[in-house]
Amino acid sequence: MSKTAVIDIDNTLWEFSDALYREMKKINDACSTPDQWDIFNIWERYCSLEDFIAMINTIHHNQDRDEYQPYPEARNFLSSLKDHGFHIIIASHRTLETTDPTERWLTRHGLPYDQLHLSHDKTVLFPDVDVVVDDLPRTLEKAVENGALATGLLFPWNRAHVENGFKLFQNLDGVLDYILMSS
Ligand SMILES: [Mg+2]
Repeated sequence: MSKTAVIDIDNTLWEFSDALYREMKKINDACSTPDQWDIFNIWERYCSLEDFIAMINTIHHNQDRDEYQPYPEARNFLSSLKDHGFHIIIASHRTLETTDPTERWLTRHGLPYDQLHLSHDKTVLFPDVDVVVDDLPRTLEKAVENGALATGLLFPWNRAHVENGFKLFQNLDGVLDYILMSS
């Protein structure tokens, strides 16, 4: 039976935080750089919730622009999982209106997947999955609660949570090795 992996997009397949920083800087020049974002809701210091949501939507609607490149390891990461028999669900917290640019981006960069799940709560998938790759501590903790193998990339905003049952790595090659070794 094939195993299922739920793979996040932002800060998992590409450096979303850099794009967010550039948008936030337009609104508030005092915004700190992503290497100092040691809590997830750091944006609250620099903009309103409305601004924050608008910035995220802008980025997602423009996902397919030239400068939004996936990590160099992203394609091999996904194709290796497929080669090892994983059913891949790409799951991102974004609106359904961003489906087209998201699909175009995945196709353009040759990122293989079986299913695309865009919603405001990807954790609905977790009871039936084997592996969850994400950068948000609360998402990873939910995956652990559901008995999934939880892992992702290490960032300032998740560093303090590494003891909570999931493993974080510097790049996707490390994440891939960990998944293949553990499953
Ligand atoms: Mg993410």
